Order: sequence, then structure tokens, then C-alpha cells
Amino acid sequence: MSHVHRPVRRNPDDITFAAIEKIAADEGACLALFEALRFPGGLRCSACGADERQGCGFTRHRSRPGLYTCGGCRRQFSITSGTAMHRTRLPLGQWLRAIWLLSSSSKGISARKLAEMLGLTYKVGWHLCHRIRTMMGDRQISLSGVVEIDEIYAGAPPRKPHGGGPSGVPTGRGPRRPLVLTMVERSGRVVLERIASHSSAAIGRAVAPTVDPAATIITDTLPAYRRVAAGHEHLTVVHSAGQFVVPDAGGSGVDAHTNTAEAVHGMIRRAVIGVWHWISQKHLDRYLDELAWRHNRRKEGHLTRIVDVIGWGGRPLPMKHLVRPI
Ligand SMILES: [Zn+2]
Repeated sequence: MSHVHRPVRRNPDDITFAAIEKIAADEGACLALFEALRFPGGLRCSACGADERQGCGFTRHRSRPGLYTCGGCRRQFSITSGTAMHRTRLPLGQWLRAIWLLSSSSKGISARKLAEMLGLTYKVGWHLCHRIRTMMGDRQISLSGVVEIDEIYAGAPPRKPHGGGPSGVPTGRGPRRPLVLTMVERSGRVVLERIASHSSAAIGRAVAPTVDPAATIITDTLPAYRRVAAGHEHLTVVHSAGQFVVPDAGGSGVDAHTNTAEAVHGMIRRAVIGVWHWISQKHLDRYLDELAWRHNRRKEGHLTRIVDVIGWGGRPLPMKHLVRPI
């Protein structure tokens, strides 16, 4: 039977936008949620380390919900202090809606669409998206097992600097598109890192803190990889010779190919073309953070993703930092 109707299997951890909306419309419920995720088990002062769990008293200001005074050092802080939401003028409900939209869609959402859905100006929506991206970034991940490594050019070339040549093309080294190093476990997690060049030094700086020393590395035959992979088991595929998969390479029991990295590159291209349309070199790192974060949590439900984003919190990213020239 080819047309058996099966119920749509939803992840029990998924949460609908309607359910999110119910919490978002109620600032008290929102604050309770953010407090539970930011301070699981009780408030904690980042200045003096005073901890509610250890019996230190904090004042919750009724007139300004989300504002606290530490019982240890008397310092005031808020639910958004030190996070990407630092000094936000948006209600927590808008943050919650935006976090759901950005974290639960499988392919991401453009700032324009998000602004339209939340009734914000494009500029505010754009700033909001970038701040949520910092809540997805800065995770220390160690890749192990079989790790494929490959590079891809991503994003737009740098804008023409002032004083370029007569044709408008910048003089000197010419426009270069930013280079990204993809490091990905077979059927596992990915780390995307911007690199300055194809040199072994640049690639090594990205690989060393990310790839476990015991991991097997698979690359193409770019010479830089030989030095980068020293100390690892290193298998290569010779793409120039039409070689794409080497089964059981060198008797290692591992098929040498970089198809997993290729699939990640397809995901990067589709996001840049289909969702973001254009990404500037200046903001590339944050877009990469979002892509890797989403890929690494593709099997998780919405709720786990929201808990992860709000619980981590990101770091402050004022608008003036975003719009300042490189
Ligand atoms: Zn304190």
C-alpha cells in the first residue's frame, strides 16, 4: 500500500507558535520563564558571586519587574544584564517570539520577514536577529571520530574601499570573498570558522582547538592539510583525479570522502541565496554561528533549542558596534 496515512510524527519537545504567543503576551509569564532559564535554581550575582541557593537574599523590585538588587554587594542587575538582551527596549515577549522564529525554522528566517511578523521596523528586526545569533555562538565544541575538513568561499566580496582604481575595482590584492573552514564529524556536529587564507598556519589555528587529537581527518589534497593533520590519522581524496570516494582507504576501515562537508557547503549556499540573500563579510561570523548552531541541533525539539538560546544568553551587541565600519 503506497498511500497509508500515518499521523504526523511530531517531536514531543516541539512547541507551537500559538503556545509561545500565550507566554509572550503575558510579561509576568515571560519573566518567570526567562528567570528560570537564565538562573536555574535561583538568582546569582555576577559581580560578587552571591547565590540565592546558598541563602543570599535578593530584592525583586515590584515596580520594575526583572530588576534585582544583590543582597551581598547591593549591586543592581536585571534579567538581561550581560546578555545579548542587555539594555534592550523590547519587551521580553518580543524576544521570545523572535527566538522561537529564528531557532525553530529549519532553514532560518530573514530579518525582513521577522520584522514583518513581529511588527518591528527592519532596523530593529535586523539588530534583534544579530543579537540572537550571538546567543547561538561561542560554544566550545570538540569534534571527534572521523572529521572531514574542507574550505568554501562564502558571503559577498568586501565592499569597494575608497580610493580604488579607476575602474572602481579596489587596488592591491583585489576583491576577495571570505573563506570559511568547515570541520564536520560524519553524521555529527559541525564547526564553521572564518580563515584568513589557505595557508597551513591559518587552517591550523582553526583546527587545533576544535578537532580532538585522536580524530581521523579527511581532506582533499590541498598541501596545507598535510601539516595541519600531522599527528592525526589523515586520509585524502584526490578530487582532481576524479576520485570522490576511496572505500576503506589504506586499510583504515574508513571510506575517504568529503561528502559530509559538501552537504554542509550546500546548506551554507542555500541559506545565503535563499534566506539572507547577501551577507556582509563584517557579519559573517554571526551567520556562521547560526548555521552551525541550527545544524548541530537539527534533531532537537523547539523547547530544547529555546532553553539553549536563552540559557546561554550570548553577549551584549549594541547597534553602534554593528554599524561601525570594519
Ligand atoms: Zn553581588
